[in-house]
Amino acid sequence: MSRADRVAGRLKDVDVLLVTEPANLRYVSGFTGSNGFAVVGPQIRRFVTDFRYVEQAKVEVPDFDREQGPQELLAAVGEGLDGVKRLGFDDAHLSVRAHKRLGELLPPHVELVPAAGVVEEVRAVKEPGEILRIGAAAALVDEIYAWLLEFGLVGRTERDVAVALEHEMRLRGASGPSFDSIVASAEHGALPHATPRDVAIAPDTLVTLDIGAVLDGYCSDCTRTWATGASVPDELLEIYALTLRAQVTSLDAVRPGPLGREIDAVARDIIDAAGHAEHFGHGLGHGVGLVTHEAPRLARSGAAPLVAGNVVTVEPGVYLPGVGGVRIEDLVVVTETGRNVLSKTTKELLAVE
Ligand code: ZN
Ligand code: ZN
Repeated sequence: MSRADRVAGRLKDVDVLLVTEPANLRYVSGFTGSNGFAVVGPQIRRFVTDFRYVEQAKVEVPDFDREQGPQELLAAVGEGLDGVKRLGFDDAHLSVRAHKRLGELLPPHVELVPAAGVVEEVRAVKEPGEILRIGAAAALVDEIYAWLLEFGLVGRTERDVAVALEHEMRLRGASGPSFDSIVASAEHGALPHATPRDVAIAPDTLVTLDIGAVLDGYCSDCTRTWATGASVPDELLEIYALTLRAQVTSLDAVRPGPLGREIDAVARDIIDAAGHAEHFGHGLGHGVGLVTHEAPRLARSGAAPLVAGNVVTVEPGVYLPGVGGVRIEDLVVVTETGRNVLSKTTKELLAVE
């Protein structure tokens, strides 16, 4: 069954689905360009793009009826909707302006119905080929960590390290980082999404490195926290040991069946019991695929059970404002019988000069 067939099979309250968000469009149709839409339903596989992408679409979107649309692409949506009463649109991504314009352009017999999340639900269960690609992107980040051990940290600025590792990642085949790399040392490590500073990394502290690569269209995501000497303050060593215990224990709980929030609770209970409840303010993890953050969520809001084929991160952190922080993140595939951890870089606390 094709991806479009699987999406069509999940439509409940709509006759057809309008697919506009780029990652969803790429997933259902194969199209990698920046401007296009698809209409998918039990009897319809329609793809429309503009003049610039007509030739590209012939190669990338062979299984759809392809058309070249007008300059205002949305004006083409209403064609070919005979018999369609309810058109699903992506209310999580379509702008208010585009939604209003669509309402003006559609024939009066067609009702616009919010239908966000249908493609994302299908995307959350990866095909074997997708798991291979994510695994390759994860292996590339492991290579970057090995390279970084040799490159060194002490005396370099956080920004220099971030720039150098992103350059190295491209040299090794990545189309780019899957998100802005995080290199956060000393007290800056207390900011979960820190921006690298023009500040030299000091000896005898901790550095949080959160890195991902895009390879062959698929993302990876892996965090390690390293020491920059043998005399790291005890307070930081204690939260390292705590975060590692929470990470390993919750990672071991990943398998088909538990809800996202139940895996989140495994790590959260350990950190709460150590008195650091208020220092772990984000969810435990997220799905990874065509984009870095996708379904399913491992968080208090994670209401979906894990199923084989999900690819998720497990990334608890403990952040002490003004002092420092620790996060440890692995990328893991949910298998029929348990899990397959894609991130191979050691989680022992390394001392890197
Ligand atoms: Zn990350
Ligand atoms: Zn992550």
